[in-house]
Amino acid sequence: ALPIIYAITPTYSRPVQKAELTRLSHAFRQVPRFHWIVVEDSTARTELVARFLARCGVPYTHLHVFTPRRFKRAGMPRATEQRNAALTWLRQHRSRRDSGVVFFADDDNTYSLELFEEMRSTRGVSIWPVGFVGGRAYERPLVSGGKVVGWYTGWRPDRPFATDMAGFAVNLQVILTNPRAQFKRRGSQPGMQESDFLKQITKVTDLEPKANNCTRVLVWHTRTEKPHLANEPKHRKDTVVIEV
Ligand code: UDP
Ligand code: MN
Repeated sequence: ALPIIYAITPTYSRPVQKAELTRLSHAFRQVPRFHWIVVEDSTARTELVARFLARCGVPYTHLHVFTPRRFKRAGMPRATEQRNAALTWLRQHRSRRDSGVVFFADDDNTYSLELFEEMRSTRGVSIWPVGFVGGRAYERPLVSGGKVVGWYTGWRPDRPFATDMAGFAVNLQVILTNPRAQFKRRGSQPGMQESDFLKQITKVTDLEPKANNCTRVLVWHTRTEKPHLANEPKHRKDTVVIEV
């Protein structure tokens, strides 16, 4: 059977949350052998996300962990605790016998279906270009002779792994055989989460280039504009309560 793709999505309450999750689910439900690990940044599972997941048509696990307020400042990495909670869940609920591929799927990005076909064959750690990151139209690993030999990026090319969270996948067995590998708060500079994590589990020379030797963009680091809600009524609210 095909290895299962485990997509880890941190998510938090805001006006566009349900719209984002809806958009993601429309892609994910078309991917065979897919398991969605949704980790809410909240003190409990919310009704909104629980109801949404139950109806979305994607096999899922629903977790939550609240980010301490001291970590919610501008310039600090986001969703560290949520991604780690998903890794812990995998280590507790999957074993040597399970074949799978782990991927970090933020809730606002845009995913092509081809991306999942590409990552499915990940033996160790695979890597590919990501659109709209690094201050350029795309950032990509430079490949020569089937190996990653450098990075095309507009931002900190000195990063050991100049890639975005959406730019790589990891075989489940790599996650299980490196039980201490996780995302770091302490000592992690802004934008170094990916490198700090990947350093713990692989080497640049071992990366498996996907997407035609990293020459195709199959995922985009899109960001959703905040809706304008300045005219929400303060009194005389609507006569019905509607979930948005
Ligand atoms: N996120 C979260 N808690 C927060 C902020 C963000 O769980 O306080 C999630 C968010 O839903 C997304 C991921 O973390 O899945 C990355 O956040 P965001 O897209 O805002 O970061 P950016 O793409 O702007 O770096
Ligand atoms: Mn984002």
